[in-house]
Amino acid sequence: MKCEICGKEYAGYNGFSQHVSRHLPHQEYYDQYLKTEEEGYCKHCGKPTNFKSLKLGYADFCPTTCAVQYSNTHQSEDQKRDRAAKVRQTDLDKYGVENVFQIDSIKETCKNSIL
Ligand SMILES: [Zn+2]
Ligand SMILES: [Zn+2]
Repeated sequence: MKCEICGKEYAGYNGFSQHVSRHLPHQEYYDQYLKTEEEGYCKHCGKPTNFKSLKLGYADFCPTTCAVQYSNTHQSEDQKRDRAAKVRQTDLDKYGVENVFQIDSIKETCKNSIL
């Protein structure tokens, strides 16, 4: 890691962060030299987020609320998929075709392995 202000190189993060704080507060250094354009805004609602550290940068979401809402959105998509899978399973149970075949083939395998 290299200090963008004086050019001093650091192998470890701890030495680097201590060094940077001699020039500027971490957030100011981060804003000037490390921050990307889309960083620092909530991925859910677009409001500015909190600065975490020189290493981690800005939070991806507003504290608690948006992170939870964002993960709920993704979870509900998974749940939809689960429900679709269950409907398919119910059809199989109704007709039972595939299940019967499976049981027969398992029995067959057992017989063969005993003999
Ligand atoms: Zn420096
Ligand atoms: Zn938010």
